[in-house]
Amino acid sequence: MEIAKDEILQYTWLAREEGYTSLEHEIIFKDICSGCGTCAAVCPEDVINVGEFPRLTGKCTNCGYCLIQCPRSYFSRDEAEQLLFGSVSKDSLGHIRTKIGVAVKDGEIKDAVQDGGFVTALLKYAFEHDIIDGAVVSGVDRNNPWQPVPKLVTAPDELISTAGTRYSNSANIAVLKEAKEKGLENLAVVGLPCQIEAVRKIQNYPVEEVGLKDRIKFTIAIFCSSNFMYDGLMIGIVQNKYNVPLDEVTKMDIKGKNILVFTKGERIEIPLEEAYKEKREGCKICPDFTGRLSDFSAGAVGSGKGYSTVFARTKPAEELLKNAIDDGIFETVELKEEKPGLAIARFLQEKKEKGAIKKAREKIKEELPLPFRNLKF
Ligand SMILES: Cc1cc2nc3c(=O)[nH]c(=O)nc-3n(C[C@H](O)[C@H](O)[C@H](O)COP(=O)(O)OP(=O)(O)OC[C@H]3O[C@@H](n4cnc5c(N)ncnc54)[C@H](O)[C@@H]3O)c2cc1C
Ligand code: SF4
Ligand code: SF4
Ligand code: SF4
Repeated sequence: MEIAKDEILQYTWLAREEGYTSLEHEIIFKDICSGCGTCAAVCPEDVINVGEFPRLTGKCTNCGYCLIQCPRSYFSRDEAEQLLFGSVSKDSLGHIRTKIGVAVKDGEIKDAVQDGGFVTALLKYAFEHDIIDGAVVSGVDRNNPWQPVPKLVTAPDELISTAGTRYSNSANIAVLKEAKEKGLENLAVVGLPCQIEAVRKIQNYPVEEVGLKDRIKFTIAIFCSSNFMYDGLMIGIVQNKYNVPLDEVTKMDIKGKNILVFTKGERIEIPLEEAYKEKREGCKICPDFTGRLSDFSAGAVGSGKGYSTVFARTKPAEELLKNAIDDGIFETVELKEEKPGLAIARFLQEKKEKGAIKKAREKIKEELPLPFRNLKF
């Protein structure tokens, strides 16, 4: 669905008239910010900092880029999918050229990763074959255990420290600015589905002065049902309620109806119901579980323990995956449709989309107009 020109003009006018205030009023105060970090990446004055949410740290000059490039102002998923693949797929998981389960063979990487290590191992392979000169990922704050922070990696040996999953916001897209300043031109972007939408917005509706759209070589979306507020989940629930010191947590994982928290000697189960009280508000209108606008998608559901479920959606992605497999980077398994195979991913996708539509309807009743044309009512 193409976006009407007058709608783009309306946002552009508002953004230039009110600058950062328009980002606050249209996105942040309406509780639809996904925390992607795009506004920080595109701000020429460098006065936006995104932690959980964007924050103005200096003088805004009303250029308007932050609202114009925000994927939650105007953006059409269907249009982006049409541009990327030539059509909008009727499959709930989107366009997929290759689907496969992979597990990295390298022992050092295996020990550090969340599932099968597809993300970290593929990035390493892409660096070593000069396919990329930088990777946009998420690292961990040195002073706050389990607090994710966006990170730009420029060499393969920096990747290990970024492996694994943190279930709170990491504004990955923000570090595209640092990548541009360093003159990097072949970037891989790892992000949640909302962050891959941000990349497509930058590419499909570019502001020329921003200068980011041609630097991205490929994107990897990681499956996502929801993100959680760091203070609520990690401090309020894990640390304070379940008495687990965060610096002792070695891994976290979502399995079935629980969030699992591992320490050296223990495994603590926190019911997802409880964690969902700390679900990020902006996630409630998000319909995309697997990242259908990405080159690659990777997640846990769909393949067995220790494997990543991987979709290569574009032709270059399919070739890169094939080369990495042919070069012996991964063990592979076939993905089956029936449970516990892709049927679960489909179930989670459909559940997420239904929930997003319900929430969007509630929001529209409360505070018209909102940029929800992407959800099919
Ligand atoms: C908030 C969240 C919710 C998720 N929910 C599900 C789910 O419901 N079902 C499912 O199957 N999979 C889910 N995943 C994905 C899963 O946890 C793994 O990230 C995925 O399977 C890839 O595993 P891997 O071994 O290939 O990744 P690894 O090689 O370990 O690499 C993981 C990559 O993810 C990046 N990353 C880590 N945390 C974040 C973050 N908070 N934001 C952005 N990037 C990050 C790291 O920088 C790293 O590059 C979720 C991930 C996140 C971050
Ligand atoms: S200067 Fe920065 S904060 Fe102000 S409108 Fe431009 S992008 Fe937004
Ligand atoms: S959705 Fe992304 S670009 Fe929009 S306000 Fe939030 S962090 Fe900034
Ligand atoms: S649920 Fe959607 S908006 Fe929230 S972090 Fe995941 S992909 Fe982003």
